Formats: sequence, C-alpha cells, structure tokens
Amino acid sequence: MERSVLEMKKKDIRSMNFAELQAEMELLGEKSFRAAQLYQWLHQKLAGSFDEMTNLSASLRMRLDESYLCALPQPVRRLRSKIDGTEKYLFRLSDGNVIESVLMRYHYGNSVCISTQAGCRMGCRFCASTLGGLSRNLTASEMLGQVYQIKKITGEKISHLVAMGTGEPLDNYDNFLKFIRLLTDERGLDFSQRNITASTCGIVENIRRLADEKLQITLALSLHAPTQEKRKKLMPVAFRYELSDVLDACRYYFKKTGRRITFEYSLVGGVNDSASDADMLAALIGGFKGHVNLIPVNPVRERDCAPTPGPKVQAFKNRLEKYGINATIRREMGRDINGACGQLRKSYMEPEVRAEGGDAAL
Ligand code: SAH
Repeated sequence: MERSVLEMKKKDIRSMNFAELQAEMELLGEKSFRAAQLYQWLHQKLAGSFDEMTNLSASLRMRLDESYLCALPQPVRRLRSKIDGTEKYLFRLSDGNVIESVLMRYHYGNSVCISTQAGCRMGCRFCASTLGGLSRNLTASEMLGQVYQIKKITGEKISHLVAMGTGEPLDNYDNFLKFIRLLTDERGLDFSQRNITASTCGIVENIRRLADEKLQITLALSLHAPTQEKRKKLMPVAFRYELSDVLDACRYYFKKTGRRITFEYSLVGGVNDSASDADMLAALIGGFKGHVNLIPVNPVRERDCAPTPGPKVQAFKNRLEKYGINATIRREMGRDINGACGQLRKSYMEPEVRAEGGDAAL
C-alpha cells in the first residue's frame, strides 16, 4: 500500500521527544498534561492508533488523527526457530518499504536486533543487506516501532537491543540518536543504555560525535580485517577512512565513555582467517580494552564468501587468546530460519521467490 499524499503530510508524532510533544500540544491549545498522557500512550502502552487513547476526548483524538501519524510498522512475516526460539520478523512501513528485525532469547533476557535503514549503501562484500542499495533512512519511530511491535506481539519483556540489522546506524545519525534517547527515556520503556549496542562499519566523524553524547551504549566496530589493504577488499567504506583513524576514533570513544569496544570480525575462508591475520589483528588491537567477536561468515547466494571451517575458527580464537586478547565465537541463533542478515527482506522483495511462500505468514 503506497502512502497517500495526505498521510505523507502528517507529522511523525512518535519521533517527538517529550519537550517537542509539549510544544505541539501547546500549539493545539491543549493543557500541558495532555502531553504526558499522549507520551504514555505512545511509549509505554504502545498504542498503534489514536482510537486506543481512551482518556483523550473523542474530538482531540480526531484532530490528532488528521494531523499526526501513529501507526506502528505492520508485521507481514514471523518465523520462529524450532532450535532456540529465535524469531525473525518482517515489517511493512507506511510507504510500503519492508524491513527485518530479530528477537533472540538469551539466558540474561530477550534481545531485539533492529534495522536502522531500509537497505544500505555501505557495500560490504559479504553482506546481503547492501545488495539492493539504500532505499531510505528509517525514522526514530520506525526503529522504536520494531521493538514496540515485538514486545506487543510476544507479550515478553525486552531488555537488550542491538543495532545490527539492515543499515548503518551512523549513516542515519540524527534519527538513530533520537531513537536511543526515546528508548532510554524513563517516561517510555526506560531501556538501560548499557544494554544497547550500536554496530558500525566505522564512520569516523560520527563515532567521535557519538562519544561526545554522554551515553553509556556499547560501540561495536565491524573490523573484519587486520590491515587497511585487506579491509578495502571486504569493505568499500575503508576507501573513505584509514584504519588508523577508525581505531583512533574508537580510542576516543573509550576515553569519553569508559565503555569497552567490541570488535566484530567475520571470518571469510582464505581471505582474513590465517594465523598471520590473527597475529596482525592481535598487534592492531592489543592495546585496547575490548574484545573480539568472531563470526564465521554467513554465506550469501550472490557473494562468493565461504565461511571459515569450525576448527580453524577455534584456532584463530586460541591464537588471539595467546596474546591475551579476549575473543568469543558468536553463537549462531535460529540456524533454521536465519540465512544471512538481510536475506529475508531481500527474498520478500523478489516477487518470484515471494510467490513460493513457504513460511508462515501472519
Ligand atoms: N552497518 C553496521 C551494522 C550491520 S550488520 C555494521 O557494519 O556494523 C551487523 C554485523 O554483521 C556487522 O559486523 C556486519 O559486518 C556483519 N555481517 C553482515 N553480513 C554478514 C554475513 N553474511 N556473515 C557474517 N557477518 C555479517
């Protein structure tokens, strides 16, 4: 369903912070306590329409509906892993774009992985999310909407969030930051900042900006290679930023926030997984208070990246540990429904695959 011209003119009310909502209510000539009521409906009771807001008068609800957007992203697919309960969701946005999100169930609580853009323009060689390029940035409310809908659908508490779905969060900086502030607002879901991880391919100036925001979120850097030359082969963003500058920005992030950096390292067979790669990686990040998350690359049909075999992944980890570097191998969640990041969205957008169906539609 395409968004009508009228809908497009509506203001995105769920992306407004409390002060903005108060100003908006004042403009409408409403008492200031209305802002608190409305904010609670939007960010605690997670209302999907103004109709649900029963402590507002019918006439105010009608006025709001005429000028503001309140709809949450609509679920169109929900896949559940029989192995570990991981769930993948496909949501349709009001302009027809589709995005994917994942719910992972860990012993420490539920974690949602959100998309920050519809598509991506970073072009990483092993990633499915970037194959169709960037369609558009997501708004703060569309990022919140993924969390809110999963919470509503499952009825479960969600304590952790990772921005590791489709898109580059630091390529959509302002909306992403607004999203973080709304998600961690005590008037809303009151998420703990320490339970949020932002993953970036390394947009240097925005890592530094984020460091200055006085937040306590974890920064995960998608490193994937121990040298500038190798990184260029896997990640086009490396043509824009020198590896040394990326790491300087990470040091700055740690200095400003005290938060340890996570280095993500997807192991691609024969490309970045040799013993000498491990040695160079150890030398590169040895001085950091951080840890390395090793991810055997998830094969994507359109890409010729082969995963590193299990024993070699273990050997890579052991070699890093010999240098005193803390490394973990990422546990694969929802192996039976997974496919690489971005593949569910991609398959949905390809009509011939979509027609085959096969998964349980909502
Ligand atoms: N744009 C952000 C977040 C998106 S992806 C970033 O680059 O960090 C989250 C992580 O998954 C990144 O480390 C990304 O490089 C990695 N990734 C993407 N596709 C993958 C694949 N097919 N196999 C393994 N890791 C992949």
